[in-house]
Amino acid sequence: MAQLDLQAKLAILADAAKYDASCASSGTSKRDSRGGKGVGSTEGMGICHAYAPDGRCISLLKILLTNSCIFDCHYCINRKSSNVRRARFTAEEVVRLTLAFYKRNYIEGLFLSSGIIRSSNYTMEQIVEVARSLREDHDFRGYIHLKTIPDADPELVRLAGVHADRVSINVELPTDAGLKRLAPEKDGGRIEGAMADVKASIVETKDARKRFKSAPRFAPAGQSTQMIVGADAANDCDIVARSSTLYDRFKLRRVYYSAFSPIPDASAVLPLQRPPLMREHRLYQSDWLMRFYGFKPKEVMAAAGADGMLPLDIDPKLAWALKFRESFPVDVNRAPRDMLLRVPGLGTKAIDRILASRRVRSLRLEDVARLTVSVAKVRPFIVTIDWRPTLLTDRADLRALIAPKRQQLELFAA
Ligand code: SF4
Repeated sequence: MAQLDLQAKLAILADAAKYDASCASSGTSKRDSRGGKGVGSTEGMGICHAYAPDGRCISLLKILLTNSCIFDCHYCINRKSSNVRRARFTAEEVVRLTLAFYKRNYIEGLFLSSGIIRSSNYTMEQIVEVARSLREDHDFRGYIHLKTIPDADPELVRLAGVHADRVSINVELPTDAGLKRLAPEKDGGRIEGAMADVKASIVETKDARKRFKSAPRFAPAGQSTQMIVGADAANDCDIVARSSTLYDRFKLRRVYYSAFSPIPDASAVLPLQRPPLMREHRLYQSDWLMRFYGFKPKEVMAAAGADGMLPLDIDPKLAWALKFRESFPVDVNRAPRDMLLRVPGLGTKAIDRILASRRVRSLRLEDVARLTVSVAKVRPFIVTIDWRPTLLTDRADLRALIAPKRQQLELFAA
């Protein structure tokens, strides 16, 4: 590998890290350096921003330790056979960069991932050393998210969790068949085993901290994973089923979906085109339906078409409501929260405001309209004291009436 200066390495390794979506910092415990102790904070704003899939704006130094790898996963730009320029940081260089960026207020924390060099254990040792040095040598109190390697010694993964706010292990592909075909050196069983170990450590530590305040922390922001969408034949129902299993079995904080993007010198087994970005968006919406709206995975899957794919032109909640119209209309002045959560166009905040307002007065359609972006979308599914949709809910052309209008792109637009 040619000798590169720190800036050249940063350019390569920050660019190589952009393919990983799982770097949101939601849900960690507060840790800060106000009062003159240590450096860094999980609170506050930097100036290099990334948007988490939940819309929160965060700033992290997001880099790979190295983009060299001894594995050859077909979908990965850093795979062994890829023709990209390689670079590698030392653990000490990553520590130095993180502190320098932090002190300049560019970042709120570090997201560190890596290709596998020499062996899984060796790579994991380097990753852990970065976090250890930041925490122990420099009293760094900012956010740290470490990508861990499932094949590494469980003790190294445990050490990663001791220093990091969040750890993640990528399942990569929604099905075992997809994993075998596109990442033959990875083992679905080992990935799940590592996730189970992380879950056990999180539970154990939480219990210990209930009894002893001084018990060490372990990944207080939990664990997450990432799934690549559109690189294999898995449909949306496969992905929803896989995500719900992962949430149930490993108590993940988040599953991130990353639409596969064709890479230079792509392997012939990959599709030539990336899936529509809207597909990734619809999967995030279905994920929210399961996590915050009380939908069972089977109900989300029922919103999909015969091909197992969620519609792209309407959101999955509207798709479900159009299929199960017998559940509507819902009376906003009487219905329980779980029924209101089913109404297309009503978010959790709007519902909380409805529940608070209706304690003191009965709501009219205009009151609901103030809480939603599109009252046209909500109207067919609700009853208020001055509104009843009568036949509207059952109209055969209801989808066409409320689906967002397709926009014709202008051929010669500036
Ligand atoms: S192990 Fe990770 S970095 Fe290496 S080729 Fe596979 S996905 Fe890429």
